[in-house]
Amino acid sequence: MKSGIPVRILKTIRETQEVSEKLRCDGKKIAVIPTMGYLHQGHASLIERASSLADIVITTIFVNPTQFGPNEDYTRYPRDLENDKAVAGAAGSNIIFFPDAGEMYPDGFDSIVEVEEASNILEGKFRPKHFRGVTTVVAKLLNITKPHIVIFGQKDAQQAFIIQKMIKDLNFDIEIVIAPIVRETDGLALSSRNIYLNETERKNASVLFRSLKYAEKQIKHGERSITLLRKEMLKIIQSGTPTQIDYIAFIDPVTFSETENINQPEILAALAVRFGSTRLIDNILVSITS
Ligand code: AMP
Repeated sequence: MKSGIPVRILKTIRETQEVSEKLRCDGKKIAVIPTMGYLHQGHASLIERASSLADIVITTIFVNPTQFGPNEDYTRYPRDLENDKAVAGAAGSNIIFFPDAGEMYPDGFDSIVEVEEASNILEGKFRPKHFRGVTTVVAKLLNITKPHIVIFGQKDAQQAFIIQKMIKDLNFDIEIVIAPIVRETDGLALSSRNIYLNETERKNASVLFRSLKYAEKQIKHGERSITLLRKEMLKIIQSGTPTQIDYIAFIDPVTFSETENINQPEILAALAVRFGSTRLIDNILVSITS
């Protein structure tokens, strides 16, 4: 019985490595879910998936300073360990690895893991050094928790692509699973950052999913002009009075390069938009049948 289990909190790297090593020696299959905490049902769905694939589920909770830019929300990023324990336990997590920044980045820390090309496009243009912060911390978390499986959400599609690439390029002996996006009833993708939205912004933010669904429907009905799709999506998004639209991009999911033609079996429509000071990202993967 995995659900509702009391969760063991581990704060040190040494103890976590020892626990994982012992579990591996005992023949247990380990799955890990890297998160920044403030867990919601999106995270819970990843933990549940992990629980169905492995014997032991480790959720890592670490608000990683190196993936935040100087003007981003590192210090005010929401944190709530008590609630995280409840959500993680109910979803089937056995262990939470919860280090502090000094444990992860002791004095003298001087290494970087970087997937070069894919880190500098799209999100990377608006968040320089973000992905090298992510790949470095994820490489560390994998070495610390020693999983057989790691699970990421499609919500952060570029991150998932980059981690897949890192795992392949650097021969991590780990299976990566990408889990679908969990949404609110109006379509807004669950995110720890949604808490920053005021009531009006929260309501307006549903235009993002509406615009993505519009693109999906049009593509499935044969529309092939990205210029036209982008123009109509812009109109839908603008009806929600965003403060800024960083990008609306059409991406070949195999190479993660932006495309101006829709002629591949699948296309990813992705966007980043600000409401007030809150930056939201979302995407939809469209299979092209005709
Ligand atoms: P975060 O705590 O935001 O770094 O997210 C941790 C993991 O949860 C990442 O792999 C995210 O892609 C995933 N995730 C975040 N929000 C959702 C969501 N709404 N649905 C599914 N996965 C999500």
